Amino acid sequence: MRALTSVAALCLLAASASAAAQGAAAEVTLTRMECGTSGDPTEVNQRFSDIFAYPGLKLQFVYSCYLIKHGADYMVWDTGFNEKAGPRAPKAKLVDQLAQVNVKPEQVKFVGISHYHGDHIGQAGSFPQATLLIGKGDWDGLNAPKPPPGIDPSSFAHWISGGGKVESVPTDKDVFGDGSVVMIATPGHTPGHHSLLVKLAETGPVILSGDFVHFRENYETVGAPWFNFDRAQTLASIDRVKKLEANLKGKVIIQHDARDVSKLPAFPAAAK
Ligand SMILES: [Zn+2]
Repeated sequence: MRALTSVAALCLLAASASAAAQGAAAEVTLTRMECGTSGDPTEVNQRFSDIFAYPGLKLQFVYSCYLIKHGADYMVWDTGFNEKAGPRAPKAKLVDQLAQVNVKPEQVKFVGISHYHGDHIGQAGSFPQATLLIGKGDWDGLNAPKPPPGIDPSSFAHWISGGGKVESVPTDKDVFGDGSVVMIATPGHTPGHHSLLVKLAETGPVILSGDFVHFRENYETVGAPWFNFDRAQTLASIDRVKKLEANLKGKVIIQHDARDVSKLPAFPAAAK
């Protein structure tokens, strides 16, 4: 009996020690960067609403990408355009922006990709040592004998050839295993599209959109652009994020919407 009791006590001790280790939660910060050059404001009624909901509305689109620091680890979320993108090419490379905040490319443990479009994947190849996290539907498309129209897998050549670690994500993915940074399945824009939930201590939960919507009006009035992969999935994903945002008392940041991106501190400052 005494032996049993002391075993039980030991188990309790072990449990509380591991709880204490987990209790010292890793600090999480979020830094926004520019990974493409904006053009003139875009007339959104034609291409970005399949019900012509926004006559006359012109919006400033931007190309944002993000650095997430989790304790001593780093993750990059989306990698924008690369230097081959003509007038939309970034003014400064992602690796040069990271250098300004003293992060070397080899320190980036994860590259998370919202979806396989060229304005989100262009600089992925700068992080060959990172584990690539990408939705299964998109990863399958990139690896298909004939990728979907307009999709260029070359940014992922290193991983497609088997040279790097990749995890294709069928549903949600808790990146660091503590619930603080979670890829949220939001398909519709593309088959394997994801958004990213980042729980910040001071700012509160932030949901980086990817392109589940492109601008605030499409989020608020549940709109879909013509070119999305699946309209019904698009609407379901908007519904999911709205409920997630309400339940977590979070804040959605729409990555292409200049009005939304400016809610986060300007580079090199980080949201905490
Ligand atoms: Zn897109």
